[in-house]
Amino acid sequence: MNDDKKRKQPIYRTDIHGHTVLICPNCFEKLQPADVETYPYCPYCNYRLPVDEQLEEFILEPVIHSWVSKTYPGF
Ligand SMILES: [Zn+2]
Repeated sequence: MNDDKKRKQPIYRTDIHGHTVLICPNCFEKLQPADVETYPYCPYCNYRLPVDEQLEEFILEPVIHSWVSKTYPGF
């Protein structure tokens, strides 16, 4: 059974620091990349988040940020 079209889509926002914030579409809690990097489930309500490019980028974003700050100190 394919119910993907009816599933609520996660909400992506950018916070004041320029970091991406993922908001669970089911309980509206803010999720951190560490919350979903192992399992794509909301830790608050257990909602299964669709794994797509946006979710992968969200998980990878802090890795890229720390890589940039290590490679270019003071950048
Ligand atoms: Zn949730």
